[in-house]
Amino acid sequence: MDDNAFARRRGVVAAGLSERKLDAFLAAFSPNLSYLSGFTGSNGSLLILPGKSILFTDPRYTIQAAQQAGTDSPPLQLRIARGPLVVEIAAAIARLRLKRIGYEPARMTCELHDALKSRLPLGASLRPVDGWIEGLRMLKSADEIERIRRSVRTNSRAFEEAVARVRVGMKERDLAAELEYRMRRLGAEKPAFETIVAGGVRSALPHAQPTSAPLKSGALVVVDMGAFEDGYASDMTRMLFLGSPGAKVKRTYRAVLEAQMAAVAAVRAGVPAHRVDRAARAVLKSHGLHRAFIHSTGHGLGLEIHEPPRIGKHEKIRLQAGMAITIEPGVYIEGWGGIRIEDTVVVTEKGCEILTPTSKDLRVI
Ligand code: ZN
Ligand code: ZN
Repeated sequence: MDDNAFARRRGVVAAGLSERKLDAFLAAFSPNLSYLSGFTGSNGSLLILPGKSILFTDPRYTIQAAQQAGTDSPPLQLRIARGPLVVEIAAAIARLRLKRIGYEPARMTCELHDALKSRLPLGASLRPVDGWIEGLRMLKSADEIERIRRSVRTNSRAFEEAVARVRVGMKERDLAAELEYRMRRLGAEKPAFETIVAGGVRSALPHAQPTSAPLKSGALVVVDMGAFEDGYASDMTRMLFLGSPGAKVKRTYRAVLEAQMAAVAAVRAGVPAHRVDRAARAVLKSHGLHRAFIHSTGHGLGLEIHEPPRIGKHEKIRLQAGMAITIEPGVYIEGWGGIRIEDTVVVTEKGCEILTPTSKDLRVI
């Protein structure tokens, strides 16, 4: 990220304060804090006001905060609190005579809210502001898209390296460990979520945790994996089959793939998100499988693995060029298994760019 990106983002927030009737905005939710300052420590708050911002953290992060957030223009002051951050934040609010302070109700604990409120000077109040920073984060810069692209590439390489080692009898848990080890070796900081590897009937659980069960011959295996690289997430689901797949597996796989491709084809700037979801649902309906599709078609991703927009049945939000989203329809049949295919794509004016380079064919091993 170029150093000014954070300052620019803070500038956008500062410029939006007056129309929201705020004197300042307090960001304490980690992904928003890192979006606005670059700081990734576990304890921090950022107070943004016109012309300057103050980053509060504790002594463990003195060096890291200065390195990540800098203290350049427009002025970002670093305040290292010896005790609870709220005491310092309230003191700054009093000193700067701020009256209306916006905060993130969905992201702040009641404890922190109450602690801050009780320390505010007379006449100052906390005003809830929902989803402001998340809204800004939906539209990725070219630099952010590049990071997501790298994360996706690492994730796909890790998949290829690990899948080359899959054998009948390998434990689900060992394949998950192999996938995560490979992604780290290839440059990821960590998995973006707990890697899903589930074989046979367990593939019908959309969020299965890998177990010590061995991968069996004649069974589907779902692999859903993502990496965080340079702070940005990737997300991909692919299906393996050990042995030779029967007619039902092939037929169901083709239907899900057709649904996935129909949803990808529906993605374009200006299209409401629900239309993308319905494109996938309509295909599955034509195969009599719509009732087995029990989640939404996709989600945004970036600094978090799941972030707005949601690509669901009732989501009216219109897609915009620069949004990074997943497209991941699936069907789940109890006692038989599940099939999901997931790519990460970036919305463009004319359609979308599929970032995921991995083949969408059923991986027969
Ligand atoms: Zn996924
Ligand atoms: Zn996903």
